[in-house]
Amino acid sequence: MSSKVREKGVIVAIDGPSGAGKSTITKLLAQRLGYIHLDTGAMFRAVALMASQRGIAVDDDAALAALCSTLEISFLREGVGARVLVNGEDVSSAIRTEEISLLTSAISARKPVRAALLAMQRQMAREGGVILEGRDIGTVVFPDAEVKFFLTASAEERGKRRFLELAARGEEVTLEDTIAKVISRDSQDEARECAPLRQADDALAVDSTRLSIDEVLNLMEETVRERIAGEKR
Ligand code: C5P
Repeated sequence: MSSKVREKGVIVAIDGPSGAGKSTITKLLAQRLGYIHLDTGAMFRAVALMASQRGIAVDDDAALAALCSTLEISFLREGVGARVLVNGEDVSSAIRTEEISLLTSAISARKPVRAALLAMQRQMAREGGVILEGRDIGTVVFPDAEVKFFLTASAEERGKRRFLELAARGEEVTLEDTIAKVISRDSQDEARECAPLRQADDALAVDSTRLSIDEVLNLMEETVRERIAGEKR
């Protein structure tokens, strides 16, 4: 049994670049394990949306800090997914546009934003039994997470998945442009000073380029269950 016992189960961290399949996998894995899933990207997106609505500049750290202190971000569970609420308002669709994706990447590099969301994320997952998906979960938010995955796929494959997702929602985008934006967002996430996108030393890397969703899920579920069994011994 590990020294830290969490009330409701272990903490699973799933990090990786955009479009690697984190959201889909996290939701389904949480369902299989009976765990809660926490989409930390949605929280950064919510801050970006609010900053944009209030005309706050990306580099205005004082205004961003003040903004974060007024935001209550919560998730309303719905089937396998969840609606994202900010101060009670449903922003689930508004946070998923390409414009907000790019703005989020810039805003998430700001220290006050990261500090505010770090505290919220730790608070939300403190009891365990949670799978968190993001960029810095295994490195910064929960470096002591019992299981860590780093989910990747080739840039072309990730851009293609993102393109299909946007096209299905009726956004007018091209495949080339979507791939370019995915690559640019990842470089920003990797290059930032504060909590950059990086694989934790003790994370298991999973490349989903040629794997089906089920194959990825089976592998992850087996890894988590082995770890849970190990914790109980
Ligand atoms: O995961 P998703 O694509 O929704 O995340 C949107 C953006 O939020 C990422 O490109 C990244 O800049 C930021 N993010 C982050 N740290 C996290 C989760 C997301 O910086 N833990």
